[in-house]
Amino acid sequence: MAPRKLAAGNWKMNGTIASLAEVETLMREHGSARCEILICPPATLVHPMVERAGQGVVAVGGQDCHAKDSGAHTGDIAAEQLRDAGAVYVIVGHSERRADHGETDAAVSAKAVAAHRAGIASVICVGETEAQRDAGQTLDVIARQLAGSVPDCATAANTVIAYEPVWAIGTGRTPTNEQIAEVHAAMRAALVARFGDGAGFRLLYGGSVKPSNAAEIFAIADVDGALVGGASLKASDFGAIIAAL
Ligand code: PEP
Repeated sequence: MAPRKLAAGNWKMNGTIASLAEVETLMREHGSARCEILICPPATLVHPMVERAGQGVVAVGGQDCHAKDSGAHTGDIAAEQLRDAGAVYVIVGHSERRADHGETDAAVSAKAVAAHRAGIASVICVGETEAQRDAGQTLDVIARQLAGSVPDCATAANTVIAYEPVWAIGTGRTPTNEQIAEVHAAMRAALVARFGDGAGFRLLYGGSVKPSNAAEIFAIADVDGALVGGASLKASDFGAIIAAL
């Protein structure tokens, strides 16, 4: 059976308690969506959002976690704490974390392991920079990031992979359908080679997904959903993307 598609929203460092009204609208209008809906708000909103959303229509996730379970790591958050707050997913290895905090593939893999240890699923992000694409290195970069960031304990149940070209995030630019298809096919082949044919990981595309391009992107082979930044903040936009899945 084909895996259930996933519409995942990444609110980044946006949103306050008042923003939770968007989630209520989403639940009201997309309560019977065929796809799974996930929103990853800032850590301050994880628990309040879980309380509003319950564990029903909208799943709630974190945007990052520490590799350790607890300890002297001021400002960080443990996967176990996210789970305690009601999160069922956590994004790890987002390119903004890789760039702003120097996160390596090994660090991302350790965070994914911590998430799995805590019983929550990881959304592991990979993606090339514009310079890497221009240099013809895209498939090598993705292969390297997948090999280094996806831990051996990954399964389809505890791991989702998001292909997010760095140059497409927040820019309004997207790769061509052929470019997305090429990367997703390469990711699928790499995961099958490592985890076996039946592994069935969900592969998301992320980077300037909006209502106007969602249907076209979702029609591409091996695209099992989207990781959406800016367009996930408003229920009207995110709802239109959900409806296209
Ligand atoms: C993201 O940050 O994960 C993302 C895909 O952002 P946007 O949709 O705004 O490009």
